[in-house]
Amino acid sequence: MLNFGAGPARLPLEVTRQLSKDIIDYLQTGLSVIELPHRGEAFAKILSEANALVKKLMNLSDDYEVLWMQGGGRMQFAILPMNFLHSGGTAAYIDSGHWASEAIRYARHYGNVVVPASSKDQQYRILPVIPREIPEEWAYLHITTNNTIYGTQFHDFPDCPVPLVADMSSDIFSRQIEFSRFDLIYAVAQKNLGIAGVTLVVVKKSMLQHAADNVPGILSYREMAAKNSLVNTPPVFAIYSCLLTLRWTDSIGLDNLDKRSRNKAALLYAFLDESRLFTCPVPFASRSQMNVCFQMDNEQATRNFLDYAAKAGIQGIGGHRSTGGFRVSLYNGITESDVVQLTDVMRKFELQYLKG
Ligand SMILES: *Cc1c(COP(=O)(O)O)cnc(C)c1O
Repeated sequence: MLNFGAGPARLPLEVTRQLSKDIIDYLQTGLSVIELPHRGEAFAKILSEANALVKKLMNLSDDYEVLWMQGGGRMQFAILPMNFLHSGGTAAYIDSGHWASEAIRYARHYGNVVVPASSKDQQYRILPVIPREIPEEWAYLHITTNNTIYGTQFHDFPDCPVPLVADMSSDIFSRQIEFSRFDLIYAVAQKNLGIAGVTLVVVKKSMLQHAADNVPGILSYREMAAKNSLVNTPPVFAIYSCLLTLRWTDSIGLDNLDKRSRNKAALLYAFLDESRLFTCPVPFASRSQMNVCFQMDNEQATRNFLDYAAKAGIQGIGGHRSTGGFRVSLYNGITESDVVQLTDVMRKFELQYLKG
């Protein structure tokens, strides 16, 4: 079965296999990895290796803290302004899709929010243009690097005189970028990093100095950093799944994963651009290498293709309920040959359909 779902997503097979072994017996200790005490030595090793791998892959110095938090993407939408949008400040958000607009909605509970660029009027089918001039009084500028539902992805980032914050939930470690341009990065695990239940946060120490003081410990980036992510019982198994994926990511290398992402996306877009049945509504410059959205102009045929694909062992390709059509997610766990298998099935269906 091939799972092209948007998340929880397919992990590399090596990772899933190892996880299943470690659930029974972790490092021949006779203990399961899910029962490791979170303040014990074994978990301390897991945490410190995971933190080191994140910094290595992102090429970050000790100016950054690595945190593991619960509550998923939406919790970050809330605690980011809770921590950094206080005392009458204004934060700016680029409105490039559903998740970006959710982040905006959450931030408005805490302070002033401006939206200097939005592609809402274009149904988010293209990327909004980030302004070149960024006012220095903004508390931070928030962008969503990959728009999971609409299949768009930023390939350039602004030079920013204010802290640059990014939601990288759906494209973290799928490509090489200059992570040090960002002051705070967050990414839910369930797409490219591990299983649901934990969110990776990387934050610059200099930004932490500006965090609000009156935030409860579990919601405070500064407190989480001071306690090395152990304010309370962390999701031990979810963090362990991230460690295994990080090891896998490191063993392949970000440069190679970058190439793989390009190749997988190129295969699928090339097919779509030639197809007489399937079309991709996203213009070339805005296209995502992670989530490829496409459609057919016939609703019955759309349903037929979903059935046809399911019978061929292909799952998770239905578009988000707000957009319809199709969406294929090409996270790191998907191989090039998986994509070839998919385009073969699409080609066969198309031939039959055009004949019929
Ligand atoms: C999936 C996703 C989220 C949502 O995360 P939850 O953990 O379900 O709240 C946030 N942002 C982006 C870009 C996503 O792709």
